[in-house]
Amino acid sequence: MPQPAVFLDRDGVLNQEVGYIRDVENLNLIPGVARAVRRLNDRHLFCCLVTNQSGPARAYYSMEHVNHLHRRLTHLLHEEARAVLDAIFVCPYLSPPEGGVDPNFSRWSTWRKPNTGMLVAAAWDYDLDLSSSFMVGDKATDIDLARNAGCRGILVETGYGRRVLSGDYQHETQPDYQAENLVDAVEWILDKKRSGN
Ligand SMILES: [Mg+2]
Repeated sequence: MPQPAVFLDRDGVLNQEVGYIRDVENLNLIPGVARAVRRLNDRHLFCCLVTNQSGPARAYYSMEHVNHLHRRLTHLLHEEARAVLDAIFVCPYLSPPEGGVDPNFSRWSTWRKPNTGMLVAAAWDYDLDLSSSFMVGDKATDIDLARNAGCRGILVETGYGRRVLSGDYQHETQPDYQAENLVDAVEWILDKKRSGN
């Protein structure tokens, strides 16, 4: 039986949004997120990070640096609450018109959110049911992704979330739920699961 998943955006959802993170030490968790991920782990909900990271395509830093950031992220989650990400999907690609310059990463990609490539790949790799899954993000494009993939979309007010809601960033969006932060989002997801819808 394909299982539901909770897809998590990275910047502004798990860690503080501070722009491109050139110094690994500047990746820091938003308070409460480690325990929120642990709650999903305890309920056996598959937790999958899906993140656009255009730094390599923009030649800001290497893919090895992105992997290093994710080692720190998984370390902090585990250290704080023994929380685990079951899978990590990264899109390092960016097309030249959008600013991609490194030839290894400068291309249009079906993986770049709001395209569904990372979710489709995760569904194939881990036997996931997208129609009963959730996508949690802080950008309108994360909600667009949820729509495109047939998941429920939750917009958190952390990161860019508040600016999206006030109309200062990206475009208007109508999430299935607007959450104060990931802790609130996880409560909503677990409540939906408990009530079977
Ligand atoms: Mg984000």
